[in-house]
Amino acid sequence: MLIVMKSDATESQIQVVVKKIESIGLKAHPSHGTNRTVIGIIGNLEPVDQTPFIDLPGVAECVRVTKPYKLVGRELKQDKTVIRIGKAEIGGDETAIIAGVCAVESYEQTMLTARIVAEAGGRWFRGGAFKPRTSPYAFQGLGEEGLKILSEVRDRFGLGIVTEAVDEAALDLCEKYADVIQIGTRNMQNFSLLKRAGQARKPILLKRGMSATLEEFLLAAEYIMAEGNYQVILCERGVRTFGNHARFTPDLSIIPLAQHLSHLPIIFDPSHSTGRRETVIPMARAGVAAGADGLLVDVHPYPELALCDGPQALFFDSLRKMVDEVRAIDRIVRGYRALSLEQVEGYCLPQGLPTPIY
Ligand code: PEP
Ligand code: MN
Repeated sequence: MLIVMKSDATESQIQVVVKKIESIGLKAHPSHGTNRTVIGIIGNLEPVDQTPFIDLPGVAECVRVTKPYKLVGRELKQDKTVIRIGKAEIGGDETAIIAGVCAVESYEQTMLTARIVAEAGGRWFRGGAFKPRTSPYAFQGLGEEGLKILSEVRDRFGLGIVTEAVDEAALDLCEKYADVIQIGTRNMQNFSLLKRAGQARKPILLKRGMSATLEEFLLAAEYIMAEGNYQVILCERGVRTFGNHARFTPDLSIIPLAQHLSHLPIIFDPSHSTGRRETVIPMARAGVAAGADGLLVDVHPYPELALCDGPQALFFDSLRKMVDEVRAIDRIVRGYRALSLEQVEGYCLPQGLPTPIY
């Protein structure tokens, strides 16, 4: 259930409701929107009785949540979540570019790439220090040494650092060095790792499981939020289908649907979804046209020598090209989104029809 507070409810009235929820053994999640505060109740197996809450001062109404994901959904929070680290944003006014190496292989490879990302106007750098590899004999990442190199990228280039935690021990380390902690596709339903991510003090970038439905994806995000970490970014990275012309099949239709159901930002990874360099830029353009809040892209100074995912890594000059192209698309798409409903109605509605329900 959600308890919607009146727009002039005071902080002490909100606290009375929170205490009341906790007194019956449940958890309260207040969400402060621009106009009003909504308090989510979670932890109940049976429907919660609204009687103790409805007459409390400052309470406007009690609303049943219809979706299994309560904190992730738009019912609790209508305003979009924006993740901010310094000047870097995900979910804000422009498409976030998160580019970098698949794996941190060496100091030189990482610094060379970071310089190009910064020069191309990216504000975020990606790089794996812990790699989830299909083969146990493949390069597994430099571990903490890689995280130290990433920290230096932040200091030298002012880029926000995104890096993957493959297990709880790695998450402890990533929390120390990174700005955003990634949970990969193979771990989307690793529930103990999701709970640990929910206790982290850093935003979490959650990749969609390669065969996860939208509901499973949103419920994985709910695991993180239910532990108290509200800073979650969703990432579409392709799903398994019968098609074998690409590594995975990008499922761009999930972007507008996730945005409709959830206030969380959703970004798109064109690199891991197709696994082929020649498809990365066209799919990046398509992702931005579909409304993605950002792109996560692999780049490498010498892709043919890469220890991980070389065939999908962009060359340096193509990263600049990609950024130019997606910025152009971004301006058009955001222009459409900014059109007010009155403008749209005034333009296309014939006279005499009832106002459509939005
Ligand atoms: C990655 O981003 O480096 C990665 C391993 O991605 P995914 O979990 O989507 O395969
Ligand atoms: Mn990779």
